[in-house]
Amino acid sequence: MGVPFQGFYSEAAAPKRCCSHAALLNLDLAGLRRGLARLQMIRVSGIKNEFEIHDKRFFYLILGNAWVERLYTGSLWAEGPVYFADGAYLLWSDIPNNRMLRWAGGHASVYRDFSNYSNGNTRDRQGRLITCKHGGRRLTRTEPDGAITVLVDQFQGKKLNSPNDVVVKSDGTIWFTDPPYGILSDYEGKVAESEYGGADVFRFDPATGLLEVIADDFNKPNGLAFSPDENTLYIADTGFSHAHEGEHYIRSFSVNREGRARGGAVFAEISPGLADGLRVDIQGNVWTSAGDGVHCYSPDGCLLGKILVPETVSNLTFGGPKRNRLFITATTSLYAVYVAVTGAQRP
Ligand code: MG
Repeated sequence: MGVPFQGFYSEAAAPKRCCSHAALLNLDLAGLRRGLARLQMIRVSGIKNEFEIHDKRFFYLILGNAWVERLYTGSLWAEGPVYFADGAYLLWSDIPNNRMLRWAGGHASVYRDFSNYSNGNTRDRQGRLITCKHGGRRLTRTEPDGAITVLVDQFQGKKLNSPNDVVVKSDGTIWFTDPPYGILSDYEGKVAESEYGGADVFRFDPATGLLEVIADDFNKPNGLAFSPDENTLYIADTGFSHAHEGEHYIRSFSVNREGRARGGAVFAEISPGLADGLRVDIQGNVWTSAGDGVHCYSPDGCLLGKILVPETVSNLTFGGPKRNRLFITATTSLYAVYVAVTGAQRP
């Protein structure tokens, strides 16, 4: 039997309903103040004070007797975790150290040295590793024999900026963001100009070689993820990284059967910090990186709760044999915590 929650959560203090924008708009000023008061941090101590409950639904997404474990430390900037359930291991990038690491059986090791400043990783539907690389400004696929295939490195004859994060749709198309982080300094790549002059979100079809722009109105597009039915695509804009008034939110797009994305309204503003990376669980909740840990949003954009992490979180992925363990890359370290829901991403 699980250890019951202890701490400060109470029915009286709890939010009575989702903090949806529509709900807030219907409140008078006094009601709005009360409503906002209820949205103040309500911290629940699992075992180690690592969860904040902002909505009661979050109780059913986390485990009261699970805690955040630090599995590894020693990176300069950890990013891009991807889990291989068939091999029981996790890969992630350590961008400034120009390497990829592997965690398996309780131990970390170097998976790939001189990784061309790899950043985001995912797997295609055949299980092959897909990697964004600042070095070479490209997207690659690692074949089963270890050979590396360059999938795309140009848009209309001009180099990409520095592909950052990537997801694969069930039809095999590869969707990725292309902000300039890898060409702004030599720390995570190499200083260079943006050749096509934008910072776009792309869809690449490896079957045809066709590269199409999905969105061209981002400042610094970053993490992205599909809803379980793939009808919604969430994309983060992290312009805040280089401007105090910059973007720090996730936008949501409707995706039709032909793979066209429409809409793009702001889904959630992330604070503190940024939505560098995000993932979606099978219920459609969005789990995103933030400055103080991992934030979880309902499909209608309500902040349900937080998992507090002692370092700035960059990215996360669901893994483990049951896909119910959240692996979190955060600055120098890799963390993990078991949760009560499973990830939607496949494989
Ligand atoms: Mg990123």
